[in-house]
Order: sequence, then C-alpha cells, then structure tokens
Amino acid sequence: MDFKKNDSIVMEIEDMGADGQGIGKPDGFLMFVKDAVIGDRIEARITKLKKTYGYARLEKVLAPSSFRVEPVCRFHRQCGGCQLQALSYEKQLEFKERKIRNNLIRIGGFSEELMERIMEPIVGMEDALHYRNKAQVPIAMDKEGNPVAGFYAGRTHNIIANTDCALGPEENQVILETVLSYMRANKVSAYDEKTGKGLVRHVLIRKGFASGEWMVCLVINGKRLPAKEKLTGALARIPGMTSVSYCVNVKNTNVIMGDEVRLLWGSRTICDSIGELTFSISPLSFYQVNPVQTQKLYELAVEYAGLRGSETVWDLYCGIGTISLFMAKKAGFVCGVEVVPQAIEDAKENARRNHIENVAFFAGKAEEVLPQKYEQEGIRADVIVVDPPRKGCDEKCLDTILKMQPEKIVYISCDSATLARDLKVLCGGGYELVRGRGVDMFGMTVHVETVCLLSRKAQ
Ligand code: SAH
Repeated sequence: MDFKKNDSIVMEIEDMGADGQGIGKPDGFLMFVKDAVIGDRIEARITKLKKTYGYARLEKVLAPSSFRVEPVCRFHRQCGGCQLQALSYEKQLEFKERKIRNNLIRIGGFSEELMERIMEPIVGMEDALHYRNKAQVPIAMDKEGNPVAGFYAGRTHNIIANTDCALGPEENQVILETVLSYMRANKVSAYDEKTGKGLVRHVLIRKGFASGEWMVCLVINGKRLPAKEKLTGALARIPGMTSVSYCVNVKNTNVIMGDEVRLLWGSRTICDSIGELTFSISPLSFYQVNPVQTQKLYELAVEYAGLRGSETVWDLYCGIGTISLFMAKKAGFVCGVEVVPQAIEDAKENARRNHIENVAFFAGKAEEVLPQKYEQEGIRADVIVVDPPRKGCDEKCLDTILKMQPEKIVYISCDSATLARDLKVLCGGGYELVRGRGVDMFGMTVHVETVCLLSRKAQ
C-alpha cells in the first residue's frame, strides 16, 4: 500500500460499517468514508492512515449509488444524528438486519445457518420521519451573545443552530423559539461547558402522540429560573401544553438530566397510550421514543413470551412499567425492576390507572434486586424479560437469571453487540436461541432494536 495522508483517491463503496460509514477497498486496502453510500463511485481525500485501514473525507460523488436519496435535512452531514439519511429506507432496513446478524455471528458465536433459520424479517416503519416523541436540545450562546438551540456538530460539542429537526414533530420548533425568546427578553444566559457558567443547558420536549399532551423541561445550571412566569405564560398558550418544569443539573458532566425536577406549571407528568394502555410519564423517566413502533415491539415481546395465563414474569429494566403491564394482561403475576425511582413511581401509578393488580414494582439495580430476592426470598420465574440500556446486562444479573432457570427469556435490546455478548453467556448456560427479529425504532439512524427468544434446553 503506498497511500499517503491527503492523497486524493477514487473508489467504489462496496459496504457500510456499523456506524454507517461507506467502506471502499482501493487496491485491497480498507478505507472508511463518512457520508458515502454503498454503490457510490466517489473521489475522497485520505485523512488518517492506520496499518490495516484508513479514513477518507468524501469530496465528490462521481457516480451516485442507485440507493442514494435526497436527504430532507440540510444539516445531515454536519449533525451526527442521522447517519443514514442519504440511503433509501429500504436499504436502511437491509443494513440494520445485516448489522444484527453480523453481531450475533461475530460476537455471539451463532452460526450463519441458525441465523438463516430463525431470524424473522425486520419490522420497518411506515414513515421514517417525524417519529420521535422526545427531543433533548442543547442551548448555547452564539458569537453575538444570542441564545441558540441546535445540535452538536458530529462528535464535537460545538452547537449548530437548528430548531427544525426532521425526526421530531414540527411543533418542536415553536416550543424552542418560545424558550429562546423568553431567554432573550429576560436576559437569561445559556450554559457554557468550557467555563461552567451560564444557566440553560438543554430543553427537554416530550409529546404524547396519542394524547396530544406536551411536556417542556428546562435543564438548568442553577437552582432558580428567573422570570419564570414569563416562560410559563408563553408556553401555556401552546395547544396541548400540559407540563412545564425545570431540572437542576449543576454538575460538569455530559449527562443531560439532573436528579431534581421542579414543577413550574401544569401537571408533573404527561399521558400517552400505547394500544389499550395509558401511561403517565415524568421528565426523568425513560419512555420509548417511537410510540408507533413501540406497540409493535411490545406485541412481539408478548408473542415471544407465549403466555398462557398463569406464569410468573420478571421484567428487568422496566422503566415506567410499559412491558410489565402489556404482559400482565396475559400472565399470572408480573414483577418489574428499574433503577430510576421516579420511573417506579410512574409504573405504580400506571398499574392503578389501567386497573391492573397482578403486578409489583421494585426500585433498584436489576443486578442487585434480582439476586437479593432470589437468594433471600427464593423468588422464581417462568419468563424473564430484559430490556437493558446500550451497555447490556450486568454479569451478576445474567448469572442470577441462569440460576433461576426460567423456561423462557425474552431479550429486548437497543444494541445488538451487547445483546450478542449476553446471549453467548445465556446460551452457554443451558439456553437456546429460538427466535429473533429486528424492529426499526430509529429511522435515518444506524440504531435498531432487536427482540430475541431464548428457551431452556431440555436436560
Ligand atoms: N422496558 C422499558 C425501559 C427500557 S430502557 C421500556 O420499554 O420503556 C432501559 C431502562 O433501564 C431505563 O429505564 C433505565 O433507567 C433502566 N436501567 C438502567 N440501568 C439499570 C440497572 N442496572 N438496573 C435496572 N434498571 C436499569
């Protein structure tokens, strides 16, 4: 290989990496090119070279791929959010199916033959835009000292102003502009990460797609919000506005939310429904961002659990109890475990609200609550559902699941790499992977949800 940094090269894009970058192999050398699409013929400039691979910057598309589409957002290249906007949606789904399979094979050690036999076709979205019910928008001061709302330019913490993200509802823009004009009129500053000074860090917006209710929560670097009635007065005029609050986060951290929420106007929570169930959601609770696909995901999880009416189910990482309540209608008893105490409060309220009595919720870490209940109280389970964050399940949690020997495990995952790692442990401990399916909850991005069913092997 005699490439050098800054060389201009011409290549065909033959593949796409897990983060959505195009992959070419000029002279057999592996080259990653952001924003290039599989099937493109491109001209690119080499930016970085390693021993066995390199990176290049897309300079010109010489012959566009037949899978290329016109991106809807003019910021799609700068913003790290939508890695696949230039790829047709059909091809995005193919990319995601392949990503899940590759991880299960490479990391999980499953065979291609098994994948061929058990993986079901991915569940795609009808409309891959405007699907997100939640936005967490960073706020900063521009060079002229005006507050701006926008997004971090790919992998950096520089904010580019844009209040019109194509993944969220169009009304987000009105809400953000209302917050910005309140800030300008009342000389409220935006937080500066470098100096740790300034007040407003993020704006959290949530919409109940089924209920039409809106929640706005300002995340601030301080204990008080000045001229707060000016803000609530303006936001309250927006149709459907239900909850306005602020959240205190004075730490120098990348974590967006703090631990404490103070209500400014309206109610503490908003409502939303998925299928026949209604849920209360507070600002600190996790709630799936794509409600349309969430219903399909939950129905699939219930189907995989194959409940007959008398089972004991444990739902680990239960959030506000959504999956627990979906399962409860078909099970004997369901217990949910979740680390965020406010989410457990929401879960209990959600059980009451839906008149579901065969459930119990416990606040704490899955890897602590489950072993404790198993060792001290001898709890058992017919089905265990896990839906962990991206980092997957803790070893101690997997270990206890294996000791409890449920008949079935339903694993819902938003990161197929950690899913594959955990499935390898569970399948090494007497379980067999019998069904699996991707559900696209995050159109335009490289992310995908996966549901897998494991069944205990006959001894
Ligand atoms: N099943 C829920 C939530 C899934 S998201 C739903 O579909 O809405 C993952 C959840 O795991 C989040 O609510 C997060 O707060 C919680 N969590 C993260 N680490 C945890 C841990 N160690 N133990 C229990 N819950 C955890």
